[in-house]
Amino acid sequence: MILAFARKTLEGRPKKRVFIGLLVLTCFILLFLIFLLWYVPIVGLKNIHPSLPLVFSAALASLVFLMFFGGLLLVFTILRGRDIFLSHRLRGLVAKVLFPVMLLMGKMVGIPKEKIRQSFVELNNHLIRSNLHRVRPDKLLILLPHCIQNFDCEIKITGNIRNCKGCGKCEIKELIELSDRYHLKIAVATGGTLARRIVMENRPEAIVAAACELDLTTGIQDTYPIPVIGVLNERPEGPCINTKVDIDKVKNAIIDFLEGPSAPKG
Ligand code: SF4
Repeated sequence: MILAFARKTLEGRPKKRVFIGLLVLTCFILLFLIFLLWYVPIVGLKNIHPSLPLVFSAALASLVFLMFFGGLLLVFTILRGRDIFLSHRLRGLVAKVLFPVMLLMGKMVGIPKEKIRQSFVELNNHLIRSNLHRVRPDKLLILLPHCIQNFDCEIKITGNIRNCKGCGKCEIKELIELSDRYHLKIAVATGGTLARRIVMENRPEAIVAAACELDLTTGIQDTYPIPVIGVLNERPEGPCINTKVDIDKVKNAIIDFLEGPSAPKG
């Protein structure tokens, strides 16, 4: 019944709520498991030592407290839109621990992986903006997927994006202009391995990345603790060919890192 309820409430809701809904479901399941962990040994622990049930109950109560504290902190940070307490640690917890669990939960209740990944990217962006990360322009990197380049363009832009002739047939031209305007580093990666190499070579303190859900989630996890604001690309011709990116979203992410999330976006 809980599964059916969770699936029903998650469908059609804004992206971030998918993750929060799955988080609540996970809490319920964990609570049930913790109850079993508490109840079953109590019967036997008493027979080992009279005070053991009390010690065991205190340990589990601490676990429940930590779980609720972490969950509430995450939800309040999302609702308030700014750092309450330890949101940089929450980001790590979400990326390294909660996200893989949410994928499993999503599988159980029939939510597509793609939707959970989108939700994760939204939540990650929200936590980064809540944490007010500010960086200098030379420490901010714009990282783009190769599929944004027009498929028929014969110019090689991996290695050096500035080989682009600026013909305007794809958004590489506008993205280079954006990087020039804000004096940022910009690069194109053909896959995760090259993306990791670009990050290692450039040593950015923050990244604005455009890519599909899969590449963004992998990239956000791989580069943690470097903050990454992810912009999901659009795929009017299907995946990995002539993809598009919303230039305004990229620009807003850049301004959020350079001037703070409350800065005007004009
Ligand atoms: S804008 Fe640059 S990368 Fe895009 S098609 Fe024109 S020359 Fe090629």
